[in-house]
Amino acid sequence: MKTLTITEAETLAAKFRYQEALSQSEPINAKMLVRKLNITLVYRPLSEKSFGISCRSGEKRFMLINSRSTRGRQHFTIAHELYHLYFDEHPVPHICCGDPVTGEEKNANRFASALLMPREGILSCVSRDEIAKHDVNVATVFRMEQLFGVSHSTLLIRLKDMGLITSTRFQVLNCIKVKEAAREWGYDAALYEYGNEGVVISDFGAKARILFESGRISEGHYNELMKILYGGEAEED
Ligand SMILES: [Zn+2]
Repeated sequence: MKTLTITEAETLAAKFRYQEALSQSEPINAKMLVRKLNITLVYRPLSEKSFGISCRSGEKRFMLINSRSTRGRQHFTIAHELYHLYFDEHPVPHICCGDPVTGEEKNANRFASALLMPREGILSCVSRDEIAKHDVNVATVFRMEQLFGVSHSTLLIRLKDMGLITSTRFQVLNCIKVKEAAREWGYDAALYEYGNEGVVISDFGAKARILFESGRISEGHYNELMKILYGGEAEED
């Protein structure tokens, strides 16, 4: 299978945005997009190096995202899994765990990066001076991370791929202590922390409720289904 160039990944992401009636520059709310696409999304703790899993059966699509990865990383993983669900040429259920990044994993990462951080959106955030100097300043970096909901390293890789920062500048920016710096710039550090444990985004609960209210399943059966689907209490954030 062919590895997508960054330009090809951007074109694919632009096509996906177009198909889903999304603007070509605005940030994406991944949870709302997943709900719109009728994908079942479950957040559960996985091992440290596992980011997510997705699978498809007919028109049913499912994602499992590691709640012990940061919210920014979770956002990227959802976009990565969207590639597997909609564009992967040889979809095989597998745990996406980062390195080594080859083949469709690399394509999924490039697609995710282009989908979450569209070229037009990134360029609207940087000044002419920053473009000319290939040197995006720290304030702009943190503003973009918060705006597009991505991790520090994910944004820096995108800026480097777009030629907006040099390798040297990448190294400097990549050494920043992210949570402390975000707070110093007046931002909430939640993006860089774990979250969403136990959250389920699905219409299964609503369907079970319809079955219960129409008398087709008992209250006990309904409660059992809800327990299986949603487990204990979970707070969405
Ligand atoms: Zn993957």
